[in-house]
Amino acid sequence: MPHPKLHQIRRLIDAGLTNTAIGQQLHVERQTVGRIRHELGLPLVPRQPLTVEEKWRQRTRELPGGHLEWTGDTSTGRGVPVLRHSGQTYTAGRVAFRIQHGADPTGHAKPDCGVRYCVAPAHQYDTAARQPVREPLVRYNSAEAKLAALTEATPDGHLAWAGPTTADGRQILTHGGVNHTAARVAFRARWGREPIGVVLPSCEYPRCLLGEHLDDTKARNAYRAMFSAVFGRTAA
Ligand SMILES: [Zn+2]
Ligand SMILES: [Zn+2]
Repeated sequence: MPHPKLHQIRRLIDAGLTNTAIGQQLHVERQTVGRIRHELGLPLVPRQPLTVEEKWRQRTRELPGGHLEWTGDTSTGRGVPVLRHSGQTYTAGRVAFRIQHGADPTGHAKPDCGVRYCVAPAHQYDTAARQPVREPLVRYNSAEAKLAALTEATPDGHLAWAGPTTADGRQILTHGGVNHTAARVAFRARWGREPIGVVLPSCEYPRCLLGEHLDDTKARNAYRAMFSAVFGRTAA
């Protein structure tokens, strides 16, 4: 009995795809594709070597909140996510940093999102960006408590940052040895969930940290959908 997806498999073989690519696209074992290819007497497609970035992408898994878990190798003893490619070993964070910034990090790349070994490109910062952060000498029970201590209400109803700022202007809140961006902590404190994507103020106050004024990518998309639905109805 012929394989139920024989026709589709044949079409993709003719299109020049590898057994692995066909397997992924049609949700069949690549060995099955190989067997069918062999039975049809068609030659194998030489495997293209993956780029560092492609190999990196294959070893990441999405986590809630826009974080990325590393499923690849880790450095022996230290547990740091690493990627080996063409005889070189890179940290997964370094590759992630390069994906985000288009350049190599100065020093080490580290996530600032509070998730240990997160490799989400948008969450990576390098040593240069982290350096100017000064740690105040007071200890706080939580990142939220520290946020409250390091912010000031403005007369016009916004919340301004009074804590350390990096050379490139980021508001960094260090708690429990982990760097957080102040806006992410403020968002979480107000909305009770991890922000998804980039947190930005919706008000006109630059870098405002008032929870009510902060939206993440998910919230912005929801507003956009809501407004277009309203305008769609009015126009009809
Ligand atoms: Zn993260
Ligand atoms: Zn505001």
